[in-house]
Amino acid sequence: MTNESLRQQLALLYQLQERDLEMLLIHQKLQVIPRQIEQLNATVAQCEKDLAAKSEELTEAEKAQRSKNANLEMNAVQREKYQSEQRVVTSNEAYTALERQIEFLDTEDEEAEDAILVLMEESDRLKKELAELEDEVNREKEKTATETEQFQQELRTLEKEKNAKLNERKAFLPKIEKVLRDKYHRWMKAQFESQSKASRSKTGFVALGKNGICSSCRIAIQPQTLKEAQKYEKPVYCSSCNRLLYVEPAIPDIPFP
Ligand SMILES: [Zn+2]
Repeated sequence: MTNESLRQQLALLYQLQERDLEMLLIHQKLQVIPRQIEQLNATVAQCEKDLAAKSEELTEAEKAQRSKNANLEMNAVQREKYQSEQRVVTSNEAYTALERQIEFLDTEDEEAEDAILVLMEESDRLKKELAELEDEVNREKEKTATETEQFQQELRTLEKEKNAKLNERKAFLPKIEKVLRDKYHRWMKAQFESQSKASRSKTGFVALGKNGICSSCRIAIQPQTLKEAQKYEKPVYCSSCNRLLYVEPAIPDIPFP
């Protein structure tokens, strides 16, 4: 005869463990989603930063152009001044000296005109790039808004799910004997404290024994241990991983797990 009470307790404990695993996944998602939203916002912020930098580059190029144009205008005024002086000077020397000044202005103007051409090309290129970046920022913003909304929706759903599961858990817990329950909680707590986040989901207090194999360590359960566990008279632990064994009953018509 099997001890029905312990078998049932093991079944309930295993159910509790499965529920807790689901809750753990929800909990992990709840932690990951806000980081994903942050990442989306960071991408938009970076795009906006790029846009501002490009805009600043254009402002500088246009400013340089204006400055070169102002030089050209100043030189034109100066040239006219020299030319009118040339009309009234009396010596050849003075005339030649003014001619040199004018030549100097001409050289300066040529350089400025070349520089202006380069700056104009640069401005055109920057304007084009700026328009592309603006499109990109807008696209990125739209994408972020849509995805953030989806994430928020997911968060709300997960919160609801979590609360529902917490309530279910509360109602479920008294079905399990306090001693067993406490053992389970102590084990889980110790696992959480010692395991890294990634391996947490693999932790379990109860291991299924199916086809003579422990579901936790995947090692064959010793025949003597299996036989002992199938009596459901006292808690039996896996000799290799130390998990509490909930084994498939010897009588096949009993539901398992
Ligand atoms: Zn094991």
